[in-house]
Amino acid sequence: MDPYVNNDLKDVQKAVSEFCEHEFDQEGLHKLEDEHRYPRELYGKIGELGIIGVGFSEDIGGSGFGALGHVIAVTELCRSLPGMGMALSLGYIPGFVVDIYGNAEQREKYVRPMIEGRYISAISVTEPDSGSDLSSLKTRMEDRADHFVVNGSKVFTTNAGYADFYTLLARDQDRQTVTIFDKELIDGNPPGCFEINDLGRKMGINTTTSGELVFSDFRIPKDNVLGQRGKGLRMVLDGFELGRIVIAAQAFGSMLYGYEKVVAYAKKRTQFGRPIIQFQSVEHNLVDMYVEIEKCRNILYKAAWLYDRKDPESKKYSSMVKLAVPESAIRLLNTTIDILGGYGYMRDQGLEGALRDVRITSIYEGTGNIQKNSIAKMIF
Ligand SMILES: Cc1cc2nc3c(=O)[nH]c(=O)nc-3n(C[C@H](O)[C@H](O)[C@H](O)COP(=O)(O)OP(=O)(O)OC[C@H]3O[C@@H](n4cnc5c(N)ncnc54)[C@H](O)[C@@H]3O)c2cc1C
Repeated sequence: MDPYVNNDLKDVQKAVSEFCEHEFDQEGLHKLEDEHRYPRELYGKIGELGIIGVGFSEDIGGSGFGALGHVIAVTELCRSLPGMGMALSLGYIPGFVVDIYGNAEQREKYVRPMIEGRYISAISVTEPDSGSDLSSLKTRMEDRADHFVVNGSKVFTTNAGYADFYTLLARDQDRQTVTIFDKELIDGNPPGCFEINDLGRKMGINTTTSGELVFSDFRIPKDNVLGQRGKGLRMVLDGFELGRIVIAAQAFGSMLYGYEKVVAYAKKRTQFGRPIIQFQSVEHNLVDMYVEIEKCRNILYKAAWLYDRKDPESKKYSSMVKLAVPESAIRLLNTTIDILGGYGYMRDQGLEGALRDVRITSIYEGTGNIQKNSIAKMIF
């Protein structure tokens, strides 16, 4: 009996799991990784099937299951194949802030097609000299009558190059403001005003890009301001409150993937005349994993449940799960490799890839240290 997941959400879980079983395959993922190519076709399919929309509200084409819905869907995607599930969910996690703060027109223009799997989102916050300390960012926007002129650069923007719209946080006088720009606006600016440089291959999630964005007198109309001018940092952090819970779900799903694989392997692999699961050291490791998974499941579902109720505890739980679940997932996946021995180190087993993919969950949208700073502020 699970106090958080009702029958409707169980149906969602089942539908996502069946979709992944038919559509995900490890060789396909490896091919995309080698070619450094986003699974755009699958993204379209999860949009069409309503998987992206599970957590979004009904007024914009979603199913209205809220944060818990996002958690269930993303967990299943990553449980099936972490690299694929993470990449697909990264197509829409950056769009949360537009969904939360966009006006009706902006949500129709960007969020609806994103939910339908037609648009991929991106968020550009981090700069070369401003990562954890976002308040120090330097990219500036100058006010010119009906538009802004943007100068500066951003790094590590996920989906840079193939995203259909970007959410940009920049310095607007002494405050920060969020604007949205899309391909049409990029094409409408004179050549040389905007440049994207792919930062190349990284430890994991190699079907996604991490890009540098360079703005040189790039013009953004004032109508593209998201929410309230000057309140940008607060708005981004509000988007991160949900984003951090969903990133924890990426890590949680990846844990389940590792656990299920390693249990099946330990039952089958024989050494010294018996299945290795019969060695107590292996069995105890698996029990530790089981207990860790249940701890993570409970805190993760609770965080989503609090978020959906706009509970004052939600912010703290969002940081707590973003801190705890990735740490557990990294540890657990590392141990699965030990249990598979030499085979665990090989690419075709999928575990070394899962460990490399999941490693980023403890870094993006705030490192573990940053989560601890936030939690400390709230509890002391
Ligand atoms: C694959 C990938 C995808 C990403 N996607 C995006 C994206 O789509 N959009 C975007 O804007 N950004 C993105 N990022 C950037 C990511 O959010 C930042 O890398 C992250 O927030 C950390 O910033 P930093 O790398 O500048 O590290 P720094 O801020 O320089 O931190 C370095 C170290 O110092 C520690 N530290 C810093 N300040 C403190 C403090 N006050 N107290 C204690 N410890 C501290 C950190 O915990 C860390 O260990 C992505 C990064 C990667 C690698």
